[in-house]
Amino acid sequence: MDAKIIVLPGDGIGPEVTAAAQLVLQEVSTRFGHNLQLSERLMGGCAIDRSGRPITEETLADCAASDAVLLGAVGGPKWDDPRAQVRPEQGLLALRKGLGVFANLRPVRPHPQLLKASPLKRALLRGVDLLVVRELTGGIYFGERGRGLQPDGRERAFDTMVYWDYEVERIVQLAFKLAAGRRSKVTSVDKANILDTSRMWRAVATKVGAQHPHIALDHQLVDTAAMRLVAQPAAFDVVVTENMFGDILTDEAAVLTGSMGNLPSASLSGNGPGLYEPIHGSAPDIAGKGIANPVGAILSAALLLRHSLQLEREAVAVEKAVDGALRAGCRTADLQPVQALSTMQMAAAIVQRLPKR
Ligand code: NAD
Repeated sequence: MDAKIIVLPGDGIGPEVTAAAQLVLQEVSTRFGHNLQLSERLMGGCAIDRSGRPITEETLADCAASDAVLLGAVGGPKWDDPRAQVRPEQGLLALRKGLGVFANLRPVRPHPQLLKASPLKRALLRGVDLLVVRELTGGIYFGERGRGLQPDGRERAFDTMVYWDYEVERIVQLAFKLAAGRRSKVTSVDKANILDTSRMWRAVATKVGAQHPHIALDHQLVDTAAMRLVAQPAAFDVVVTENMFGDILTDEAAVLTGSMGNLPSASLSGNGPGLYEPIHGSAPDIAGKGIANPVGAILSAALLLRHSLQLEREAVAVEKAVDGALRAGCRTADLQPVQALSTMQMAAAIVQRLPKR
């Protein structure tokens, strides 16, 4: 297969972990006989330094014309002034908008060898293999908002949660599609006892559920789901929810795996290129040392192979290579301070375990 992949290394450890992920993609390309062309562009703080903008129109156009985009992380103390007009995260928001990605997927599957890295009891973590599907373009982050002093001298602020039925339908449809390739169970999370947006969400999810009789659907209130995620995490398969609930639940779910460095994510649109990135930030405290854990970025590359290039066999090969390296005791410093591997040594240990073909 021929594919064009734009890589946005970004700031801090972004360039280190994307270098590791690119090594894996290049190796997959060679070993499986594909032609994956990887080319880097600037985004985030580094782009502000170069052009005054966190992402240029040209880079946005290149991303939109690609088959997939692989991102490291953006931001850092140099660009952290809250009063600044131009900030690295604006590049990420512009990119998500430009690509029209509406679904953020975060698979959470604690590796058996790393169970003790999680603060949860081992017995609770056995068999956990869940996928959170978060709506990315609607909800309270994008509704009407305001803040201001009132005539009586009091200050008032508001944010509005808005959803269209079609926004709910397309994300729930995607969740059912993904569940069909997994354990055939969807948990739709809302706050239908209080919010009208959630009542509509539940009605739409129920309607979509009726179109997929082979997939079990249950509805949970977000407070219950938050509790069950740490009390019975193995009970979940696919969890689908709106933007803010998903933002909070995905970070909670990340704790199950022990290190931020291990978790990948994918952001998908209906038909255009997907955006793939580890869930961690630019980790300025360890940037430049070559010790960052590249597993989240490498597993994001596996998601890219699966969801944007439909290369399931290759995606599984990468995931198995990561499992194999961890099983063999390969660890970066976030998981094992003594005798830890560097970022690129960890990448090499993973590449070494890719099948010959
Ligand atoms: P962070 O994820 O960068 O770091 C949190 C902690 O986890 C740090 O101690 C860091 O060393 C560690 N860590 C993170 N990734 C790691 C990895 N791969 N290997 C080993 N250790 C790892 O979060 P933060 O410190 O809150 O944010 C730092 C900067 O990153 C900020 O400027 C923030 O705005 C930005 N950020 C960017 C994104 C993104 O690009 N999507 C996401 C979150 C934060």
